[in-house]
Amino acid sequence: MPHLGNETIKAELGRASWKLFHTILARYPEKPTAEEREALSSYIYLFSRVYPCGECASHFQKILKKFPPQTSSRIAASQWGCHVHNQVNSRLGKKIFDCNMIAEKYQCGCADDGDDGATEAGTEE
Ligand code: FAD
Repeated sequence: MPHLGNETIKAELGRASWKLFHTILARYPEKPTAEEREALSSYIYLFSRVYPCGECASHFQKILKKFPPQTSSRIAASQWGCHVHNQVNSRLGKKIFDCNMIAEKYQCGCADDGDDGATEAGTEE
């Protein structure tokens, strides 16, 4: 895949992608089924293949080889996600994030029972 070639756009894409990535992991089941574990693992590997910045995708694939996705529980998955993001941070010379902050930082505004809490069209405040 081609390099985006524009550092600002690449950084914006990165921020948006990490936000979704960590929010998915923070919402992952505490006790996932085998199917849920497979779904998360597939998602992560596909994400690493289709990520639009080629240089980033290729580096992230190397990180995944070294640190395969941890899918046994919400905590394992979200801490793993924090760790691999820190691997990227370290390569880019960025600050290492405190992984104890993950649960409070990544909330989606959704109910915990699968109901996404959305209101009927037109009734939202
Ligand atoms: P980001 O790293 O985007 O982080 C956004 C916010 O997430 C931070 O402000 C902080 O609040 C929080 N955060 C930071 N670290 C963590 C963590 N460990 N866990 C949870 N939350 C955290 N850019 C390149 O130039 N080269 C690359 O090779 C490259 N590879 C990438 C690979 C992937 C898979 C992704 C998603 C992005 C990649 N990027 C790469 C983009 C890069 O990681 C940043 O997103 C971009 O540089 C913007 O950085 P930022 O300082 O705004 O914070």
